[in-house]
Amino acid sequence: MKTERVRFAPSPTGWLHVGGARTALFNWLYAKKHDGKLILRIEDTDLDRSSEKYAESIKEDLKWLGINWDEFYKQSDRLEIYERYARRLVHEEKAYHCFCTEEELEERRQKALDEGRTPIYDGRCRNLSEEEKQEYREEGRDSVIRFKLTEQQPKVVVPDRIKGDIEFESLTTGDFVILKSDGTPSYNFACVLDDHLMEISFTMRAEDHLTNTAKQILLYEALDFDQPQFGHLSMLLGPDKSKLSKRSGATSVKEFRKNGYLPETLVNHLAQLGWSSKDNQEIFTIPELIEQFSLDNIIDSPQVFDREKLDWFNNQYIKRAELDRLIDLALPFLKQGDYIEEDPEDEEREKLGKVLDLIRPSLEKLTDLKEQEDLAIFYGSLELSSEAREVLSWDSSPAVLRALKDKLSARESISPDEVSTIVKEVKEDLEVEYKEVYKPLRAAVTGKISGPEIKEVLSILGPEVTCERLDSAG
Ligand code: GLU
Repeated sequence: MKTERVRFAPSPTGWLHVGGARTALFNWLYAKKHDGKLILRIEDTDLDRSSEKYAESIKEDLKWLGINWDEFYKQSDRLEIYERYARRLVHEEKAYHCFCTEEELEERRQKALDEGRTPIYDGRCRNLSEEEKQEYREEGRDSVIRFKLTEQQPKVVVPDRIKGDIEFESLTTGDFVILKSDGTPSYNFACVLDDHLMEISFTMRAEDHLTNTAKQILLYEALDFDQPQFGHLSMLLGPDKSKLSKRSGATSVKEFRKNGYLPETLVNHLAQLGWSSKDNQEIFTIPELIEQFSLDNIIDSPQVFDREKLDWFNNQYIKRAELDRLIDLALPFLKQGDYIEEDPEDEEREKLGKVLDLIRPSLEKLTDLKEQEDLAIFYGSLELSSEAREVLSWDSSPAVLRALKDKLSARESISPDEVSTIVKEVKEDLEVEYKEVYKPLRAAVTGKISGPEIKEVLSILGPEVTCERLDSAG
């Protein structure tokens, strides 16, 4: 069987948008599922709008998401190929040089609009004689190459593996440009040539490209190329059901990364925007996604990018993340929050792992770490809240703190269970209630009257620091 070859073909005119990331992901999952190849093709032929900075950041974001590619191309490296094929079409009289200037085109466009006609190219340069062309050249006019559509525009059928056949009765595009005057190709032309030359078997992209696909089919026919299969994914919408835009928050992968989301969170959500598993599973690992991904389960209706769900997913993945990885992921945010200055090593790293393990259930995003109050217990200076002071002023509190200190001071370390035992012993020795022991203990050690489990806190802080705090509170 032939290897499946799919591609992701972003234009580097902005940061990677979540819509683009979804297209990349679906293609990647498809490739993985079929033991195929994913081609990353940077479509940077619009020289004014493309930039290397965006191309690099798209690659970086894809890598961050775990979407790796097997082959890489950049269209700006291939200009000579597009030009060669454009000349071939001219030679075969399927395309022609057009010398109309921008101003002339604009004037005719305006006239057509004024007369209530669809403003399409009127074919003026279709049948220029060699002398006329020569004259234009001598006048110093630039030329573009236009694709010649047949007089009677044919009906175009896009065979879509997701949506079924889609018919275009007539494409109101007129003879469209395939090669611009600066020698760069138009998107549709370069796309067809590359999908053919790169032996793409299945072209899957968002449905806003449907009309382009119809135009591309005409080019496949003119060039006498076999067509790949096509599939169009439904659009992503914002919470207000309008096109997903900045207005409703972050839309670029970069922003989500910066805002403390884990890559698997985004992958998990994007995978389910237009696809669902048979048994309504919600949290997937990557191997599960690959295993279960199938075009049969694609949902062909617009999908809402749901930020609340994203937060819930992120919490789930933070809770599941391997601890060592979580430490690395958390460090930049802890530094931003001024809890930590340098990457910790050995014992400090171990301590950080324990702290993160303790607080991770409450984290929705890693940015929450920047203002996670519980972190102050372990890093930074402690301040006693007024409630904590109140607990510490109970009559029984000073003796309780002293007794706790006596039991802790001889120790090098303490386990959570040992903390429970000590609390129990102090309660019995001093004949007080449980709350009269653990409340002042918590108040002295954490500065608050509620928070993470106190036996875990003590075990992480260790007896020495705990004793210091019992001292200063007592
Ligand atoms: N460069 C096009 C875009 O970013 C991609 C089109 C395609 O996938 O064919 O919209």
